[in-house]
Amino acid sequence: MTISSFHPTPRTLMGPGPSDVSPRVLQALGRPTIGHLDPEFVGMMDEVKSLLQYAFQTKNEFTIAVSAPGSAGMETCFVNLVEPQDKVIVCVNGVFGMRMVENVERLGATAVVINDKWGHPVSVDKVTQALQDHPDAKFLAFVHAETSTGALSDAKTLCALAQEHDALTIVDAVTSLGGVELRVDEWGIDAIYSGSQKCLSCVPGISPVSFSPRAIEKLSQRDGKVPSWFLDQTLVMSYWSGQGKRSYHHTAPVNSLYALHESLVMLQEEGLENAWARHQAQHEKLKAGLTQMGIEFIVDAAHRLPQLNTVVIPEGADDAAIRGTLLNDYNLEIGAGLGALAGKAWRIGLMGYAARNESVALCLAALKSALGK
Ligand code: PLP
Repeated sequence: MTISSFHPTPRTLMGPGPSDVSPRVLQALGRPTIGHLDPEFVGMMDEVKSLLQYAFQTKNEFTIAVSAPGSAGMETCFVNLVEPQDKVIVCVNGVFGMRMVENVERLGATAVVINDKWGHPVSVDKVTQALQDHPDAKFLAFVHAETSTGALSDAKTLCALAQEHDALTIVDAVTSLGGVELRVDEWGIDAIYSGSQKCLSCVPGISPVSFSPRAIEKLSQRDGKVPSWFLDQTLVMSYWSGQGKRSYHHTAPVNSLYALHESLVMLQEEGLENAWARHQAQHEKLKAGLTQMGIEFIVDAAHRLPQLNTVVIPEGADDAAIRGTLLNDYNLEIGAGLGALAGKAWRIGLMGYAARNESVALCLAALKSALGK
């Protein structure tokens, strides 16, 4: 059998990610590959750093793009900063908080786990109590936007609490970056990671990361080597900084970084606050249409992520069959429920390029027809 080129059917991606990629980003991806130490490429990497500083609202010198997906951004934060003797307060209100616990435990450190119900934000009261009960905690770690449930947590308040107790913060912003308000410096976030494939309208596989000067200080005072060679940021630093002189660490995903650059240029053109407002406006339109169909949201309005709408599967509707109809008849992907919400919820993403009138209209019309409404 001769295998021929792969041509995927174009889909509208309205699940939990990857989300729709902007045509501008796809064009950038196809530009000629050049050497990753070529001065032109190094210049572009510098632009990626300053564009990421804008997206994160930070002046952190150490703001880079890890050459791997969001999970690698998560590991980058934990593996560089957390040492076996450290205690970490980890907030779990969905799948990705659970992964943070895994990271802490695999490093031989102690995780103090605070559980909140799925679909609820991280409880500020519980975190206040945990910080009081564990004055020796070195870190507070939480997920800003829980993609598994659609709940937004109050990162500003949580970071202020951590600072009062002299704990560093590790924040998951995979789904929040570019979609909802996020201010790294103003809120005092110490280590943050995101993903290219959500609200940035970019292809998957890159993880923006930023460390505050306090985080860099913690890294520089480590007892031993960072236990991962690839993610050791003391080595990666020499690749992402240095006045025009860069030393080889690994081969950067050159074309994917063109794509990230283009998506960040688009974000700058639109304006960060306008991008947040666009996600909110599209969420309002989707909500109005879903409400008309009698479809209810899982998360309270006050903590609802505009870019990830978790809704109750209507009674009598066959979860897999409806999602199959949307995919096969409308080329539209929405997400299934994850973990505790499997079989009970759908996750409708309005992330990045998918947060547009056309996508919302398609989703509402397709759902209406598939549900026979
Ligand atoms: N954290 C959150 C909140 C996510 O939503 C995801 C992916 O969906 C990740 C981490 C992991 O990112 P990736 O799948 O790019 O490795």
